[in-house]
Amino acid sequence: MCVLGDGATNQGAFHEALNLAALFRLPIVSIIENNQFSFCTAVDSHSRYRQCLAPRAEAYDMAWNVIEDGSDLLLLREQLAPVLQRARLRQGPTLVEIATYRFYGFTLGDANSKKYRTPEEIQWHRDHRDPVFRWEKKLLEEDLLPPRGRQQNPEDLSPTGHGRRNRICRNESSPHSG
Ligand SMILES: [Mg+2]
Repeated sequence: MCVLGDGATNQGAFHEALNLAALFRLPIVSIIENNQFSFCTAVDSHSRYRQCLAPRAEAYDMAWNVIEDGSDLLLLREQLAPVLQRARLRQGPTLVEIATYRFYGFTLGDANSKKYRTPEEIQWHRDHRDPVFRWEKKLLEEDLLPPRGRQQNPEDLSPTGHGRRNRICRNESSPHSG
């Protein structure tokens, strides 16, 4: 498995690698982490493929897939499972694109990070596609995480958080345990 950014799909090495992987039917899963920006350039400003980038795999007769919501961890695992299985069965390479969003600048020096997208766009993603918030919500729904503000076990507040993790690992009522 290899992971690359959306900007890397415009580099020659990416296409050389896809060509060879397809030619030799290598068991490689290439994942494009499409966070919508290559430094400060939006995807629709650097690619004719504006909705997604994975269809570029068709040029190499390679299987491809797009996961349109990369902020849902369980959905991500579910949708990646058959792709990984395909590689394990040596059925050839796959190019997978996972849609996500970068809330902050590319680097600390990216002072214009709030200039090449609108505050409303950033807020929409924070409200609907923040993986940390969604995961916390899921854990709260399954009673695997104490609600914020409730008195917490001091062990949960330890730097290592062993107490909380151990309780989560021991919860056998979760449909996702095991
Ligand atoms: Mg990017």
